Amino acid sequence: MKSKKIVILTGAGISAESGIETFRAAGGLWENHRVEDVATPEGFAKDPELVHRFYNLRRAALKTVKPNAAHVALAKLEDGLKQNGGQLTLVTQNVDDLHERGGTKEVIHMHGILTSMLCGTCEHRWEYLEDASPHLSCPKCYVKNTSRPDIVWFGEMPYAMHVIEERLSDCDLFVSIGTSGAVYPAAGFVQMASSIGKATLELNLERSQGSHFFDESRLGAAGTLVPQWVDEVLKV
Ligand SMILES: [Zn+2]
Repeated sequence: MKSKKIVILTGAGISAESGIETFRAAGGLWENHRVEDVATPEGFAKDPELVHRFYNLRRAALKTVKPNAAHVALAKLEDGLKQNGGQLTLVTQNVDDLHERGGTKEVIHMHGILTSMLCGTCEHRWEYLEDASPHLSCPKCYVKNTSRPDIVWFGEMPYAMHVIEERLSDCDLFVSIGTSGAVYPAAGFVQMASSIGKATLELNLERSQGSHFFDESRLGAAGTLVPQWVDEVLKV
């Protein structure tokens, strides 16, 4: 096995094949809402009811979708690397739980996750699977009215950046799957990895904005490309 320590970044493309509609940056709209209204701290302060309702719908929609062959293959990769003394660091920009449901044990949700709440008072995060309202109280500090969806909004710092940078500096290979290469800081991971001599690979439906930074790009559906690539890695 050539690559024992692999860092993978996944984006909207891998969830799209499971039927999850994702944020469309181009129009500045998300499910007919203005991004400023449902994906910024200011929007939440202005209308917490609306913001909770928006994410309640997204959370409920998770029950209608299933992980696809790409999610399942990455769980197999995590297992295979572990058995060979290696390590998979799976970082996702997606806020769905399809990697977990596909069987991956350790997932870094750098943009948060729909199945979690965040206390705006003490920053406690806890699993939450039902519909939420602004009146929800935090199970740790018991303060009401400040609980919010555990989603990293525009203008906020993504989670676990120091862990991701550490893993990137210690990996054999960085792989980007189904990302547009347009959202920073995630879009900069490939430059970070290649600047310190790491091998880089992109698996994407079409060339991303950062395509030229990768050693290799394979184009096609994640559900086909990812299982093929995982078999290659585990065979060598
Ligand atoms: Zn709290």
